[in-house]
Amino acid sequence: DQLTSQQAIDLENKYGAHNYHPLPVVLSRGEGVFVWDVEGKKYYDFLSAYSAVNQGHCHPKIVDAMTKQAQTLSLTSRAFYNDVLGKYEKYASEYFNFDKLLPMNTGAEAVETALKICRKWAYEVKGIAENKAEIIVCENNFHGRTTTIISFSNDPVARKNFGPYTDGFIKIEYDNLKALEEALENNKNVAGFLVEPIQGEAGVFVPSEGYLAKAKALCEKHNVLFIADEVQTGIARTGRLLATCGNCSCADKNCSGTPEVKPDILILGKALSGGAYPVSAVLANDPIMNVIRPGNHGSTFGGNPIAAAVAIAALEVVRDEDLAEQAFQLGELFRSELNKYIETSSLVNLVRGKGLLNAIVINDDEDSDTAWNICLALRDNGLLAKPTHGNIIRFAPPLVMTKEQLLDCVSIIVKTLKQFEV
Ligand code: PMP
Repeated sequence: DQLTSQQAIDLENKYGAHNYHPLPVVLSRGEGVFVWDVEGKKYYDFLSAYSAVNQGHCHPKIVDAMTKQAQTLSLTSRAFYNDVLGKYEKYASEYFNFDKLLPMNTGAEAVETALKICRKWAYEVKGIAENKAEIIVCENNFHGRTTTIISFSNDPVARKNFGPYTDGFIKIEYDNLKALEEALENNKNVAGFLVEPIQGEAGVFVPSEGYLAKAKALCEKHNVLFIADEVQTGIARTGRLLATCGNCSCADKNCSGTPEVKPDILILGKALSGGAYPVSAVLANDPIMNVIRPGNHGSTFGGNPIAAAVAIAALEVVRDEDLAEQAFQLGELFRSELNKYIETSSLVNLVRGKGLLNAIVINDDEDSDTAWNICLALRDNGLLAKPTHGNIIRFAPPLVMTKEQLLDCVSIIVKTLKQFEV
């Protein structure tokens, strides 16, 4: 039986453990840039499941790959080989220009995996004394919700009463090269630097021009691994295949995507499957990845045939439809159109971002409910977005949007914001 929105919300609230604080809208269908609620109302999706649905909802090519594989072989675990995983590992390794891929399921799992690889490399290759390795992380990071990851989170709600926390992390200010240099110079046991190329959950915080390349150079100087968490920024979201591509605008569709910064370890998730299935991955070259030996790491579902088939299809769509270029062009248009409104607005201070990962900052306190109320009004006007803070709203639509649709979205957003101008 089809539930009403209220019935679905009541069921989740009664029988489900609390998750995030969801916007009250109950979705039952998606196609391309649109989603529909159970009452049949249509919305532009301006969140894309936190940048997972880059290729659009229910992309026919991804659905086809998934259903065909689901009818053939879904899971064997890694106890045996399967006939899809190797093809996917080859395809994705070449796509991103790394020797090897380690398949996982969720973003947080892939981050955990990268940390394990980094530590083991530090002991076996770099020669740090056992159990002494430290990893530099950034203030206001978001890398997931496991016990180790929350150990170096700044978010009090994510941390409080979940201790004891995992040791071995040094936290420095994001976008601060001096802080990185000092941390590298003052700590002799640093194994890696874990960084988001743009901090998504922190409110789409874009670091200064050249920060990533200079941070990478500092890491190289100290023989420390540069670990890029591109779970949210990767797979064309920021207008390049990877956010670590920086401003390189090479038109090569087959570009491996690392002209500005080549991470030592690359972490992908979310849009690696187009949001169709949980798929994440860690990529690295042999001298690093080969520290993982049989029995060191594993996952029942990681690298399963459905995940592998879906990921190949999802990556093919990114190339076939030139989604990085599309995100780049639409992102420029989005910010320039919104800026026309912002120039005369007393409500919105600025729009920031790259490609189609953007946020507006509202002239109000970080713990106000203005952004939330604007998102409720956006919902009423047919567009779904979510605040990252009381005064920040992230805008991250699927990348398969047309220019006309984007302009339509800008007019919905501007119309809605004007309702809140004082
Ligand atoms: N890293 C980054 C940068 C993220 O944005 C997220 C999710 N928002 C994660 C890791 C965690 O991914 P998951 O929710 O799939 O565990």
